[in-house]
Amino acid sequence: MKLTFLGTGNSAQMPVYNCDCVACARARSDVRHARLPCSALLQGNDGQC
Ligand SMILES: [Zn+2]
Repeated sequence: MKLTFLGTGNSAQMPVYNCDCVACARARSDVRHARLPCSALLQGNDGQC
């Protein structure tokens, strides 16, 4: 069984619209620091859910 986190952000995601904090500025300049809405993919041993 495999659990993959697809997103780990809150409902506002990252970067937050119109926010000037350091974390949001970093997420805007480097997409690797951006966070999508919280979601996950769970796969069974045969590759299906
Ligand atoms: Zn922010």
